[in-house]
Amino acid sequence: MFNIAIDGPAGAGKSTAARLAAKELGFIYVDTGALYRAIGVSVLRKGLDTSVKENVLPVLGEIKVTLGFVDGEQRVYLNGEDVSKEIRLPEASMAASNVSAMPEVRAFLMSLQRELAEKNECIMDGRDIGTVILPDAQLKIFLTASPEIRAKRRFDELEAKGTTVDYDSLLEEIKQRDYQDSHRETAPLKPAEDSVYLDTSDMPLQKVVETIVRLAGNN
Ligand code: C5P
Repeated sequence: MFNIAIDGPAGAGKSTAARLAAKELGFIYVDTGALYRAIGVSVLRKGLDTSVKENVLPVLGEIKVTLGFVDGEQRVYLNGEDVSKEIRLPEASMAASNVSAMPEVRAFLMSLQRELAEKNECIMDGRDIGTVILPDAQLKIFLTASPEIRAKRRFDELEAKGTTVDYDSLLEEIKQRDYQDSHRETAPLKPAEDSVYLDTSDMPLQKVVETIVRLAGNN
């Protein structure tokens, strides 16, 4: 199966670009952040602190996280319940980042991700896809942009949905998540040695999509 791994920090535009490129290529798009978010949400639902291992690990024994695809759109299920909306709540972002630093959580989600890639031609995005999950992916891309541009994109995205947010707190959250994701011991966010580095700060979305599709064609 042809697999494309896209990694990069929060808000780099990975999901939008990957979704569109997958459509053009006829691949499925797998957003792995959604899996960590689902675990974060299941801990939040219990009203527990998501950064405390003793709160998170017991939850793993109680849940099954699965992915489905409806009209090409990914859905995330927690014990069969569709939580695709709930995982996008702002508090789910830091919760995901907190639980994702725990090796047990990463191990819990590993086979699901690898099986999807074994069975489908896919673009999978996350933080450790090229480095850990799919080290043999035919194409690896590290997609990034400056923190300010990423915060601005998030800001515009949320505004377009009618959600008012404070730019400075978005920027702060993005920086905090970047730091946490790239400094953890297990599977830290970093470019795979054999990845193509794409800084999208000055690149329109369509150009990013074209680049991914072109690179896929070259492999
Ligand atoms: O991609 P998204 O912003 O939805 O990811 C939420 C969080 O999940 C990230 O900040 C990161 O901590 C974690 N994550 C991860 N590994 C992945 C995907 C996401 O650690 N492959």
